[in-house]
Amino acid sequence: MMGASMFKRDLFTTTEEHFRAEVVDFLDQEVVPHHDAWAAAGQTPRKIWQKAGSAGLLCRTVSPDYGGQGGSFLESVVLIEELARRRISGFLACLQGDIVAPYLMKLASPEQKARWLPGFVSGETLGAIAMTEPGGGSAIDAIATNWRRHSNRLVLNGTKTHISNGRSADLVIVAARSATAASQPGDSPELTLVMVEADRPGLSRKPIAKSAMPALDTAEIELENCLVPQDNILGREGRGFFYLMSFLGIERLVLAIYAQAMAEQMLTELIEACETRRVGAQTVLDFQNTRFNLAELYSSCAVNRAFVDQAIRAATAGKADPRTACIAKLRCAELLRNVALAGVQLRGAAGVSEASGARATQDLLDSALQSIWGGTNEVMRDVIGRSLASGL
Ligand SMILES: Cc1cc2nc3c(=O)[nH]c(=O)nc-3n(C[C@H](O)[C@H](O)[C@H](O)COP(=O)(O)OP(=O)(O)OC[C@H]3O[C@@H](n4cnc5c(N)ncnc54)[C@H](O)[C@@H]3O)c2cc1C
Repeated sequence: MMGASMFKRDLFTTTEEHFRAEVVDFLDQEVVPHHDAWAAAGQTPRKIWQKAGSAGLLCRTVSPDYGGQGGSFLESVVLIEELARRRISGFLACLQGDIVAPYLMKLASPEQKARWLPGFVSGETLGAIAMTEPGGGSAIDAIATNWRRHSNRLVLNGTKTHISNGRSADLVIVAARSATAASQPGDSPELTLVMVEADRPGLSRKPIAKSAMPALDTAEIELENCLVPQDNILGREGRGFFYLMSFLGIERLVLAIYAQAMAEQMLTELIEACETRRVGAQTVLDFQNTRFNLAELYSSCAVNRAFVDQAIRAATAGKADPRTACIAKLRCAELLRNVALAGVQLRGAAGVSEASGARATQDLLDSALQSIWGGTNEVMRDVIGRSLASGL
């Protein structure tokens, strides 16, 4: 059983709170009991996606025209938070609903939407977004995967790495550059987003073993003379860089919401642990050093919470701002890492041994990942810093 959240908030209406109760029931019954086994396997079974789809939990913001609920971003927030509070790394429903599906919702033609979105909602179809390459995920302008026309088809070549749901996805949105268009130094690269069905000949994938978020399917995807119809272009040809930059704004906010909810949950558990653990005649919480440390983390959580909720409000009103998302992601990822470090240190040996230690050290690894994916903390600083030059 999980307690109430750390701060009083006035974001949610009864609609979202009812939805939260459904999400909590589903996660506690269908996901949490199996999650350790999925983590050991490095893969989450497909049937959980279908079960979640049948329960109406996936892709809530998709329009009813394509099988969704037409819900608000606040429903997405509820799902992201409850996943994070349980440290669910495998069944990342927010990846499907709030990171990949928006590309289709905003850019796809009516035919493409009708083909793919109902499966996203039902959980029959899994999606992935493939930007990162072995040559450096931070340099999107250096993407080397390329496409060229061959009569009315596109031929794709290149390698994508660390792709979430990469092994299980049925549809991969691939960022690729035109093999023929030359770009000048300093130009935005001419990238195009291409939808590649995973069963196309020429597409192969292999799992990547990793220590953070262990139940998440993470894979390398190789495209070798992979042919797709030219109708598989998503949005406008050559506009891929612009699309990636704008959709990364939502992705970063989603990751900030995840990191903030995880930080609050981990801090709540740490305070309980410090209150319970006796060292001689006193508890760990009785030490002034502990109280100062926890006060610092709690204060940062409170400030981040206010900032993240403000960003959520703006995004719900259709006024998401990419720079705000970068600030939120940077601050929440850094705070999460600090909470995770304290989670090991203040538990003493219990922070690295037995069940409590396994949890605390896994938290440390998972927290480190939040500073990397979706753009590293260094890249967040770079983006924020560059934006200052163009005016506040
Ligand atoms: C579990 C997991 C899931 C992922 N899922 C996806 C996915 O679904 N789709 C996808 O496309 N990608 C995905 N990624 C990739 C992720 O987005 C990249 O790992 C991330 O963008 C960083 O790229 P990189 O790992 O290649 O690091 P690099 O770009 O090689 O960076 C190495 C170091 O250099 C630093 N650095 C780079 N550029 C700068 C700069 N300008 N200034 C200062 N320092 C800099 C970085 O901060 C970092 O510390 C995933 C990664 C992981 C680990």
